[in-house]
Amino acid sequence: MIYLDNAATTSLDREVLLAMEPYYLSVYGNSQSQHSFGRQAAAAVQKTRDFIAGQLGCSPDELYFLSGGTEGDNLAVKGLCSYIGRGHIIVSGIEHSALYDSVLQLKGQGFELTIIQPAPEGIIRPEDIEAAIRPDTIFCGVMAANNETGVIQPTDDIHSICRSKGVFFFSDCVQAAPYLPVFASMADGLVISAHKFYGPKGSAVLYIHGGTRMKSLITGGMQERTLRGGTLNVPGIVGLGAAYARCISMQETVNPYIRSMRDTFVQRVLSEIPGTHLNGSGPVLPSHANISFDGCAGENIVFSLDLKGIAVSAGAACSAGAVTPTRVISSMLGLERAKSAVRFSFGKNSTPEEIPIVLDALKDSVSRIRSV
Ligand code: PLP
Repeated sequence: MIYLDNAATTSLDREVLLAMEPYYLSVYGNSQSQHSFGRQAAAAVQKTRDFIAGQLGCSPDELYFLSGGTEGDNLAVKGLCSYIGRGHIIVSGIEHSALYDSVLQLKGQGFELTIIQPAPEGIIRPEDIEAAIRPDTIFCGVMAANNETGVIQPTDDIHSICRSKGVFFFSDCVQAAPYLPVFASMADGLVISAHKFYGPKGSAVLYIHGGTRMKSLITGGMQERTLRGGTLNVPGIVGLGAAYARCISMQETVNPYIRSMRDTFVQRVLSEIPGTHLNGSGPVLPSHANISFDGCAGENIVFSLDLKGIAVSAGAACSAGAVTPTRVISSMLGLERAKSAVRFSFGKNSTPEEIPIVLDALKDSVSRIRSV
């Protein structure tokens, strides 16, 4: 099997599994409990909280452990907007559906919404955000890097604009975190999710700038300073910390390794398979290659490669069950490009030897699909 879907999720590093194991098998107390089992679990959570706070450059009290990027996106926008009660929201049209669908829901509840569409290269222009801000704008969300194209967004500029106008700026860093430095100073709120950097699924951390008033979405427990009730996923939190520590320590060597495979692959696909187009340009994550194949439906390429033992994706994994063309590529380059788009995402366990195998499989799949 060749796995080129690291943007959807990554395998768990064995070292991370080993770090988590005691918190399943021996230190399994509830971190809220008073006894020593609980206190040991609480100490492990605190150690991870302190470590992440040190990395992001924020206070440990500004962090909230939760179940994933999806929950982080939901909590950030719904928690903040419901607390305020009314106002205007701005998000980019390339946000993950966790944020995008949340703001559509808020719109249904009476909030006003402006969606900023990307330039054809996949970038959200800061000037478009600036022009959209109104006196009643309460929230602006633009992701650090896009999950489908890997295009890195100009969030520093967008954050400065929002700051100067007093608008809360949230940046979904789920795709960026495995490759780019993430700092609290980049936004007023951000989220990272462990399973994108070889950590466990179901574990993420949300940063929200201290003093921000939020309504909780999950009540019933006093955990996470009452913002997010529910018994903490101690092994998941420990795993998130262990995986993030490994990820940061390896970025300097892993990023160029992955980028060189990705660049070689893109260059060979574009030159060896006619009728192919790279979607997204400018600064891009080392991992992602989103390519459209004229005359092929993206999902047919995915199925065909799967039969040959190669895992890639068409559109975002979360919407792959429903075969609708991706909103992100459509908004950049139109429906036809979107329908024929396939995302290849390399990871640290990918190898250069896999590239010619994938290329051969791709050539065969594309020519068969085109001939039907
Ligand atoms: N945000 C982005 C940009 C993502 O790519 C994803 C997952 O693919 C999510 C949010 C959702 O994260 P999770 O799978 O941890 O819920």
